[in-house]
Amino acid sequence: MNTTQFDINQIVRENVKGLNPYSSARDEYVSDGSKMIFLDANENPYENGVNRYPDPQQRNLKTVLAEQKSVLVENILLGNGSDEVLDLLFRAFCEPGIDNVITLPPTYGMYKVLANINNIEEREVLLTDTFQPNVTSIFKTIDENSKIVFLCSPNNPTGNSFSEENVLQILEKFKGLVVIDEAYIDFSDKESWISRIKEYPNLIITQTLSKAYGMAGIRLGLCYASQDIISVLNKIKPPYNVNELTQKRALDRVSNIGQVNIEVSSILTERAKLIQALRQIEFVEKVYPTDANFILTKVDNANMRYDQLLKQGVVVRNRSTQPLCKDTLRFTVGTKEENKKLIEVLQSI
Ligand SMILES: *Cc1c(COP(=O)(O)O)cnc(C)c1O
Repeated sequence: MNTTQFDINQIVRENVKGLNPYSSARDEYVSDGSKMIFLDANENPYENGVNRYPDPQQRNLKTVLAEQKSVLVENILLGNGSDEVLDLLFRAFCEPGIDNVITLPPTYGMYKVLANINNIEEREVLLTDTFQPNVTSIFKTIDENSKIVFLCSPNNPTGNSFSEENVLQILEKFKGLVVIDEAYIDFSDKESWISRIKEYPNLIITQTLSKAYGMAGIRLGLCYASQDIISVLNKIKPPYNVNELTQKRALDRVSNIGQVNIEVSSILTERAKLIQALRQIEFVEKVYPTDANFILTKVDNANMRYDQLLKQGVVVRNRSTQPLCKDTLRFTVGTKEENKKLIEVLQSI
């Protein structure tokens, strides 16, 4: 099994192996809480809440997250959105012009964008017609330079989760890294893969505060993996990649997880109602199953319906240019009032 074959030194880029992380003032002297005079970082000494550099390791925030997710602080890396976390993965593990990654369209567009920016070949293996990974094709596409397989589960824009069996086959056979993007996991009744990072040394989970936690504006992405993987990423991350305001707001929010759960559960109630309503709309041909806070639908003519909705003041996402997604519209679940308005508009056009 993979667990014994996986060797992180086989996949880290040569230049990264030898790196020492930039050592900032805040790394060299770690406060133990006692009152000190800080004259080490050329900051303005007059307090205004943000005059000091932020904690480069975001210890307070990670301590709460570690407890909630039953992992160690050393299993967590935080970034400026999951987009930064994903970019760090390319920069740590993929050699430009040589290595490749595998993505499974239709899926989140950033994997391809980041591959292109980093000059990494992106090999696309279409999902099956039930939007599951095509494991046989994936392994036919993988070669010795394949470093990462990106699995988005629940998947954007389709909304479904990948079956445990499919994910396990990839995790166990692939000698590179398997990233499971769980941006929408809080809307799903499936369990997160975080609990399995001990079992699979090649497993990386990414999550975000942008969706269920309602904090897209502060930009906080999370990455959970083995201590070996996290320490490689720590070597290359910008020292102050998560700013002070973000750390504070995120800490408040994750410490008040009850409120997040209340909002998620309203969104799930609304999602169920919206699914029912969409099924009654005559031009909606299919409502795809969803584990996320959005619903993908197949309609008679996506461009026309998109324009009609827009004229009535409702902006949805037309996903028709994506493979397997001809004539599809993606509806994010809004507030009760917004969804009511959406349904009225859908019924009127
Ligand atoms: C929205 C979304 C994200 C979030 O990215 P952030 O940079 O954390 O805002 C990540 N992955 C997927 C699949 C998404 O749909």
